[in-house]
Amino acid sequence: MPSQQGLGVAVIGTGKMGADHVRRLHEVISGARVVAVADIEAERAKTLAATIDGCTAYTDPVAAMAAGEVDAVLIASPGDAHEAALIEAIGRDLPVLCEKPMTPDTASSLRVLDAEQRLGHRRVQVGFMRRYDAEYVKLKGLLHSGELGAALMLHQRHRNLAMPPGFTDEMLITSSVSHEVDATRWLLDQEIAAVTVLKPTASSLAPAGMNDPQFVLLETSSGALADVEIFGHCGYGYQVQAEAVCERGVVRIGDEQGPRVSTEGRWGGRVPPDYVERFEDAYDREVQAWVDATRRGEVTGPSAWDGYAAAAVCEAGLASQRDGGRVEVELVERPEFYG
Ligand code: NAD
Repeated sequence: MPSQQGLGVAVIGTGKMGADHVRRLHEVISGARVVAVADIEAERAKTLAATIDGCTAYTDPVAAMAAGEVDAVLIASPGDAHEAALIEAIGRDLPVLCEKPMTPDTASSLRVLDAEQRLGHRRVQVGFMRRYDAEYVKLKGLLHSGELGAALMLHQRHRNLAMPPGFTDEMLITSSVSHEVDATRWLLDQEIAAVTVLKPTASSLAPAGMNDPQFVLLETSSGALADVEIFGHCGYGYQVQAEAVCERGVVRIGDEQGPRVSTEGRWGGRVPPDYVERFEDAYDREVQAWVDATRRGEVTGPSAWDGYAAAAVCEAGLASQRDGGRVEVELVERPEFYG
């Protein structure tokens, strides 16, 4: 049970996202404190732990989860390390917020679903934070109000200033488009039935050998279409936009980020450099909602099923990216456990 000092959280992985979540838990949100951090890079964990009273650094995630005062776990290690950390946390009956992707493929995602179902109650929330972005929440509300009629198409753009070294074509799907996969499923309340990945002429500014940008077409179970432009090296900033085309109108989000300045015969604004700034409020609301729900003994937000479904769509996307053509998404039957 959380102590009066709040939910004791172990953060696994202290890189870009993990360090930002530690700062968020420590300085921004209420009801939680970071009591342990773990990273295979000992110095990174140690340096971060030193900034927080009562926080201990570990190199082994299992030792961090086993530490006293740990009530919950936030996983922000790379995707291929998530399965082991999730299985460990579930085995200890600890609530978990796991960064996306839940796991890199469907086989490992299904093992997580199995572990959670064997435990008998939900413990896992997946970090699809678009669901906490104010504009996405308004878009979802509008679509579900029925005011504009049924949503027929969703146009989405996901542009990055540049990708880190080593970023691959596959990661454009599994790491980047996975956000739009979840947003599409959530906004339209439907599963995705098929995926087609198209590759236009690559930008000469993309790293050699990388097909960037790419165009992804998602077909939903009821026949709506959602397209995603994923551009890893657009060169001007981080921009995420979505436009829903409905029977009686169109809704668009993601255009304005801040003050619009008019000066010297021009008007304009600022494009944020990355997701940490663009989705800062969404991350704050996501982590606060997770802490609040956990303290109430509830699990809300994107479930392990959502993590699995996104993995299945990305798997189909990778097959289309590799071999071309339209690839159907194969999903197991949704267990009643996941509603
Ligand atoms: P990163 O490379 O900056 O940090 C990862 C850290 O994990 C590193 O410090 C590394 O040493 C450590 N690590 C590696 N293996 C580990 C293990 N087995 N146990 C503990 N620590 C381990 O990566 P990042 O950009 O911070 O991404 C971390 C996670 O967050 C990934 O799953 C990524 O997809 C996700 N992410 C989510 C968003 C979002 O918008 N929700 C944005 C970026 C990244």
